[in-house]
Amino acid sequence: MGSTPNGAFPRRNPASRTVFSSILAHGPSSRGDVARRTGLSAASVTKSVRPLLAAGFLLEGDAAGGSVGRPVRELRVRPEAAWFAGVKVTGNEVVGTLTNLSGVALASGRLPLRSPRVRTVVSRISAAVRKLRDRAGGELAAACVAVSGEVERDTGLVRFSPFLDWRDVPLAELVEASLGISTVVENDVRALTLAESTTGAGVGASVLVVVTIGTGIGCGIVVDGRVLSGAHGVVGELGHIPLGDPATPCYCGGHGCVEAVAADPAIVRRVSQATGVPLSTIAEAAELARSGGPAAKVFADAGATLGRALATVANLVGPDRIIVSGEGLAVYDLFAEHVRTAFVDQAYGSAVECTMVLQPHSFEDWALGAAAVARDAFLRGRARDAVGASRLSR
Ligand SMILES: [Zn+2]
Repeated sequence: MGSTPNGAFPRRNPASRTVFSSILAHGPSSRGDVARRTGLSAASVTKSVRPLLAAGFLLEGDAAGGSVGRPVRELRVRPEAAWFAGVKVTGNEVVGTLTNLSGVALASGRLPLRSPRVRTVVSRISAAVRKLRDRAGGELAAACVAVSGEVERDTGLVRFSPFLDWRDVPLAELVEASLGISTVVENDVRALTLAESTTGAGVGASVLVVVTIGTGIGCGIVVDGRVLSGAHGVVGELGHIPLGDPATPCYCGGHGCVEAVAADPAIVRRVSQATGVPLSTIAEAAELARSGGPAAKVFADAGATLGRALATVANLVGPDRIIVSGEGLAVYDLFAEHVRTAFVDQAYGSAVECTMVLQPHSFEDWALGAAAVARDAFLRGRARDAVGASRLSR
């Protein structure tokens, strides 16, 4: 594909960043369009555009289908000016996706992961990103690794990831040292949420909520174009709001958590208990529930708890849209009616009007979310660049 930026992105110039973000979000635009949207003066837009054109991040040409009179010069993003890699770490694979500056996925690949040991995972992530870099045929501007659990994007630290059994792993620094590419880490649901809000089913929503169901219950929240990240790396922990039976313990130390009632492992355990049939997968539990009886009641209870959880987030942040995703969608037919009833009962006033969209995602979509975070970090010039620079100067 080949990547040939002529210079550095002018990230120290806030007006240039604003102009670029506006064209990225709205597509080809005249200088007048940009001035109207950003509130910058015409002179300021012209000045801010200059370094973006010089560095090859924007192109200028006559508007398509030009009308009579003086042609309007349009500015558009040069997609091949920068490449980004996003990696999603699952329990047994690392999944990578390569995108260009417009956020379009150009290639992806999977590598098996045989152990959750930090060294093994870092080496697999690096191998996946190198393969994507070869596909790009040039240097990558930034990479992002998305991991489930408590992740501090600014420090690059994975504070706690239950499924990898990691605590306080400086993942961004380790991957950066291995690859020599500016790297950020992000919570996987927040990464997916960013991609949904910029290029997916959440485009146009001023407040967007993405809820993932399945092994765990995750939630990403976008307000005015920003994915909330929380002061301590924790935000939108919908799975740990106590809306279930207060006697039910959760692995987090709390009781009655949504995740302890409505996540797949909880459902499997409760169906086994209710029917006396030892089960190990959600598909087996669902099969039993489809013939009714106590198994169906467990799914109904899980669905009602999930519906109350969705109403809670709707009442708190007032989304225009809630996107429900995750591997749990495979058995959503057993929840749907109970989710809807509980949601309508509990949503306050007009909060009930928010649209609910069911949107399945592949792991490549999650990796695309990570690439969106890499692009966002590159454009904002966040933290990791400084870390890279300090290492080089040592
Ligand atoms: Zn909990």
